[in-house]
Amino acid sequence: MSPRALSLRTLLFLGLCQTGKRSLASFPDLRDQPKRIAVVGAGIGGTAATYFLRQEFGTAVKIDVFEPSDVGGRMASVKIGDYEYETGGSVIHPLNLHMKHFIDKLGILQRKDVPSKMAIFDGKELTFEESDWFIINFLRLLWRYGFNFLRMQMWVESVLDKFMRIYQYQQFGYSFSSVEKLLHAMGGDSFLTLVNQTLEEAMLAEGFSQIFLNDIVAPITRVNYGQSVRINGFVGAVSLAGADSGLWAVDGGNKRVCSGLLYHSKAEVIPARVTAISVKVRPTKSGTTANYYEINYVGDSGSAHSLYDIVIIATPLHQGKSDISFSGFSPPIPSHYPGRYHLTVSTLVHGLLNVSYLGTTEQASEFVVSDVLTTDTKGSAINSLSSIDPVHIPPGYKRPPASQTKVWKVFSPQPLSQEQLRLMFLSWDSVSETQWLAYPAYSPPHRRTPPFILHDRLYYLNAVEWAASAMEMSAISARNLALLAHHRWHAQEAKIDQEDLHTRVRGEL
Ligand SMILES: Cc1cc2nc3c(=O)[nH]c(=O)nc-3n(C[C@H](O)[C@H](O)[C@H](O)COP(=O)(O)OP(=O)(O)OC[C@H]3O[C@@H](n4cnc5c(N)ncnc54)[C@H](O)[C@@H]3O)c2cc1C
Repeated sequence: MSPRALSLRTLLFLGLCQTGKRSLASFPDLRDQPKRIAVVGAGIGGTAATYFLRQEFGTAVKIDVFEPSDVGGRMASVKIGDYEYETGGSVIHPLNLHMKHFIDKLGILQRKDVPSKMAIFDGKELTFEESDWFIINFLRLLWRYGFNFLRMQMWVESVLDKFMRIYQYQQFGYSFSSVEKLLHAMGGDSFLTLVNQTLEEAMLAEGFSQIFLNDIVAPITRVNYGQSVRINGFVGAVSLAGADSGLWAVDGGNKRVCSGLLYHSKAEVIPARVTAISVKVRPTKSGTTANYYEINYVGDSGSAHSLYDIVIIATPLHQGKSDISFSGFSPPIPSHYPGRYHLTVSTLVHGLLNVSYLGTTEQASEFVVSDVLTTDTKGSAINSLSSIDPVHIPPGYKRPPASQTKVWKVFSPQPLSQEQLRLMFLSWDSVSETQWLAYPAYSPPHRRTPPFILHDRLYYLNAVEWAASAMEMSAISARNLALLAHHRWHAQEAKIDQEDLHTRVRGEL
């Protein structure tokens, strides 16, 4: 990373810490604030939206968050023995500035780092095993793939540099009315092209070799998104950034951020599932009419409904993910948008690995690889196999070698059968399986991304996942929607969908 880029990023981060100041100065007329806002879903998207809505609209507005299940959504953990382990979203990129800002604001620490070691498995043997020595890894990769590896890092860096612009725009209060406009503001036409072609097409066009894509890039997309190099180029670049060094997680579990944001925002959590949303119209003081929304929900104490001025939906509106019906809207809003979510099964096994499953002759006591990625081989039962550490690293903790019983996480496209488990493990004490409809099944060229604006004051946060699904993407979408809702409420058009922001914002700095 160049020193120039570093200092710009540092500046961005410092700026991001000042977001509260921008928001307070932005209230034009405190009498004119909405009275009630609803957020549907308490994953990172919904809880971050709650936090940013509070910043934008101030303390007087009542914010209700509907969540029928555990706060955290796809950020979840399970208890095995005395420890908790992440089963959903687990790692965070060092340049995910919203996630970083949240933990700083909430006074939560990063989890202590435990060094890891990666290998690649082609279904028969380990085709690559990371050495402790940087120079050995470098020479091996150079020998086999020429400069593909270095060029990949530069390619990802160039995408990331454009990606980082969003933080500057948001710091200055700019918002975007569609995913396409948000992407375009960050990376111009090149980002829109990336979303509409496969990662494979994008990288081949950049001169990367097919063998490099098969051997190195596919294992990374498989571990991060359970899919091949035919995912879209933008989510592909996000995935490759996820192979950078310096990834981190939240001490005590990532979902702590969600409950912390709710607490900090003084929002009320309603433990209920939203079943229907309908639009109503009421007259205003000035003699015009205004829209508001009736939310119907079902909780332990039965069904009920409430009225809101603004609603943010922070759960995917897709088959198998939610089932909300919308009535009274013209044009109609579907319960489910086209496209499906991809099944990734996360199986946590507390057991003894059968290292010979990986085709290695190494002694289990010497085998210290923590992350086994897999190539896109036909019939491959697993996407990845990782030795994982608890959400809180106790003092003196050292990751045990494969000769000892420990917790392994297997990502697979289907639940593992007993026979598959027996091939992978010599023995086990416990198996905990979570079937996730984890992220969109990406198949560019892209159908139109779902809208951010479903209706006048009804917004859809998870539309962003069709560009890329990640905790930080939901947080970026949350900030965007809080700004958008605020600007639309106060008719501040100059802060929505502005062109050429990159040059403009530099002038404002
Ligand atoms: C196995 C796995 C691994 C992943 N790894 C990573 C990773 O390492 N790094 C990373 O950045 N991202 C990762 N992700 C992706 C990341 O977890 C998600 O992009 C992110 O957590 C999505 O957050 P969200 O709040 O937008 O949605 P969700 O977390 O899905 O939250 C939506 C919430 O809405 C609730 N809900 C649904 N229907 C209703 C209703 N009708 N009424 C009220 N509430 C409702 C749900 O119960 C849920 O809590 C991973 C995901 C999975 C599944």
